[in-house]
Amino acid sequence: MRSLVLGKVFGIAIELHWSFLLIIFFILVSAATESLQSMLATAMLFFFLFLSVLLHELTHSIVSIKRGIAVHKIMLLPIGGVAIAEELPEKASDEFLISVSGPLFNFLLVILVLLAVSFFSLPFPWQILSQQLDASEFDKLLFEYPLFTLLYVNLMLGTFNLLLPALPLDGGRVLRSLLSMKFGLIKATRIVTTISAAVALFLFMISFAAQNLLMTIISVFIFFGASEEARIIETKHALKGITIMQLVDKKPIIFESNTPIELIIEELLSRNKFSCLIDFGQNRYGVFDLNDLPQNLNLKSPACEYAKAVEPLDASLSADKALERFIIKGQSMLPVFESGQLVGTLSLETIERAYRISAIKETLSKTA
Ligand SMILES: [Zn+2]
Repeated sequence: MRSLVLGKVFGIAIELHWSFLLIIFFILVSAATESLQSMLATAMLFFFLFLSVLLHELTHSIVSIKRGIAVHKIMLLPIGGVAIAEELPEKASDEFLISVSGPLFNFLLVILVLLAVSFFSLPFPWQILSQQLDASEFDKLLFEYPLFTLLYVNLMLGTFNLLLPALPLDGGRVLRSLLSMKFGLIKATRIVTTISAAVALFLFMISFAAQNLLMTIISVFIFFGASEEARIIETKHALKGITIMQLVDKKPIIFESNTPIELIIEELLSRNKFSCLIDFGQNRYGVFDLNDLPQNLNLKSPACEYAKAVEPLDASLSADKALERFIIKGQSMLPVFESGQLVGTLSLETIERAYRISAIKETLSKTA
């Protein structure tokens, strides 16, 4: 996923997905063709949306860190954000607290805005409660009353995220965590995935009736997001009893960091491999991967220029935890350490094969 890194807060990288910029650009252009006021109202709406999504995700992240689950980045998407944690919460109570905290923050902000405008008699369009407004009158309010815009955005974010019982939205996670307490993670995920598909289908149909493109996008996002979530959970379940030492390649290909990449590529291709380790010295290793090579490649360059420094996996890790690390880091191979020493490498491909074998065994045991 291509994104723009905006900065770091509490050690968490904040990234803006490129589609966010693209959508802002298109919406501003289309609003500008209507009127200047409608463009300014849209710009204001997006500014507060961006800020509120960021704070919503930071709330999830802070609760997650407090529960002992590290968060390494927040990705801001046009329809909300995703806080990318080091691992999925194991305990249902942790998942419940982490997922409920984001929408609760939005509702808290709504209450604070209401209290502030009432106590300090700040300008606020109270007429909205009694009057029916058309789109252009509504735009005018968004443009004239920033506090109203802030309230509106947070009310929408909180409601949408909490009340739709669909994965991967917060509401789906809350429901899954509650069901997990009774049925366990696997069965709870299956139930919520089925509900999510129904919610996605329902939204998809009414989005056509309402001619609402954003709703169509959200329904597709829920449909694919939920099935991806289900796939991850099923895989984790199948890999649970397997330790990575059973899967480690104990004779990895290792090159010195000054080896010209020409030699490495030749060796990898002749051995039918995609990646190898590069020894950076002092027990540090990088991964050189044929899939990650740039277009303008200088074949005479030393390996260290193209190798990616990585954190090793600990040999005591279970295969399902290792899989999470691969998915989160976007790596296809990682070095494995035991008591601080390199013992081999593990590839994503090997884990996936182990998963397929375990799934076949389970099917066979059911038919037997
Ligand atoms: Zn959330």
